[in-house]
Amino acid sequence: MKRLVVLGGGESGIGTALLAKANGYEVFVSDKGGIKEKYKEVLIHNEIEWEDTRHTELKILNADIIMKSPGIPETADLVREIRKCGIPVLSEIEFASKFTNATLVGITGSNGKTTTATLTHHILRQELNVGLAGNIGDSFAKQVYEEDFENYVLEISSFQLDDCIGFKPHIAVLLNITPDHLDRYDYKFENYIASKFRIARNQTKDDYLIYDADDEVIVNHLKYHPVQSTLLPFSLIKTIEKGAYLDKENIKITIDNTEIIMPTSKLALEGKHNIKNAMAASTVAHLLKIRKQTIRESLENFQGVEHRLEQVLKINKVQYINDSKATNVNATYYALESMDAPTVWIVGGVDKGNDYQELFSFVNEKVKAIICLGVDNEKLMSTFGNMVDIIIETQFMSEAVKIAYKIAEAGDSVLLSPACASFDLFENYEDRGRQFKNAVRKL
Ligand code: ADP
Repeated sequence: MKRLVVLGGGESGIGTALLAKANGYEVFVSDKGGIKEKYKEVLIHNEIEWEDTRHTELKILNADIIMKSPGIPETADLVREIRKCGIPVLSEIEFASKFTNATLVGITGSNGKTTTATLTHHILRQELNVGLAGNIGDSFAKQVYEEDFENYVLEISSFQLDDCIGFKPHIAVLLNITPDHLDRYDYKFENYIASKFRIARNQTKDDYLIYDADDEVIVNHLKYHPVQSTLLPFSLIKTIEKGAYLDKENIKITIDNTEIIMPTSKLALEGKHNIKNAMAASTVAHLLKIRKQTIRESLENFQGVEHRLEQVLKINKVQYINDSKATNVNATYYALESMDAPTVWIVGGVDKGNDYQELFSFVNEKVKAIICLGVDNEKLMSTFGNMVDIIIETQFMSEAVKIAYKIAEAGDSVLLSPACASFDLFENYEDRGRQFKNAVRKL
């Protein structure tokens, strides 16, 4: 009997443990932190051995396979030990994919993964039996274990890709690559780029790679490191023969001489970046033979995803928008770009070495006031101080929203798009977004 050790007793770890146990593995789950009560109950109920608050090396280094949670870095002492012993380390995505014959769609990129995965799933589920997994909701392994779908849309982060060796999605989507998480990649951008491209490394010409042809990082990498996959680019600025592009105000998708046309004005999601996300999602749907009418209707009626340019309320003709998920400058760039009203911008949090320069022209053009919301607002105050008439700082969400309410006039928008991580004042970006919405509702 093969021994599989799961490091990390979170959603993906528990899913892997269940799937492995059901397939005849001897399973041990080890978590250095605490395992949630609901997961402990599952482990006990399924007679799976586990420990938390420690890693007992003796019980780990005798494994045949290790499944490591994507949150545990290569530099952790235990991981170094495991590598020294030569034990194969797999990601949950890789492990689960071995136990399903489903058609897999893998979506990665620095920004837009959740939006595009959710949108793709929304279109596909109109006509197909399809699960949505990866970084979203129930883990992929748990879904394969419980009911197994005929198709999966998987949102995949670079950390998950790092431990993918044989994983081969039939359709891969690479949305964009901008520097992020470099602390996990020896501060080398090329390592992070290589990690993202692992999504296509096992693909053959019968598989597809859908990617942003306007993203120079992606295009350059492909030039020097060609992949086997059939390429389907999308672009907002070039005409694309096979793939998707913007023809005046219409999205055109052409594959195998069939064409879909969709006016961008009908898209439920606003912003240029969402045109790209819609292009990627509809190209997937088209490849999987979803009817054109269904694709168009689904793009029109998609409800969006919480905390991503989410329209909260309109009060006194002022629109309040929650983009709390914008935890880096690039995401905020697209949020500001999509604003078509004078904007009161709430920004700030934990700075990840941000360079705000790319936002300057939008700030000059669209932002009438800035509210800095963080423990340390100094960099924001000095960077943007000369650009707007009003710049105020606070450490409380409720106060930030009240100040915004006082400043905003009919026709303006109030946008929370922090460009920073949330851990200084909030539990996570969801907590930040919810506090924003609650404060708006109390106005
Ligand atoms: P991820 O799952 O990759 O973090 P999300 O869909 O959660 O991406 O969106 C994160 C942030 O990035 C949001 O603020 C959103 O407005 C912005 N965003 C969404 N799609 C794109 C894109 N294609 N390019 C750049 N930014 C995007």
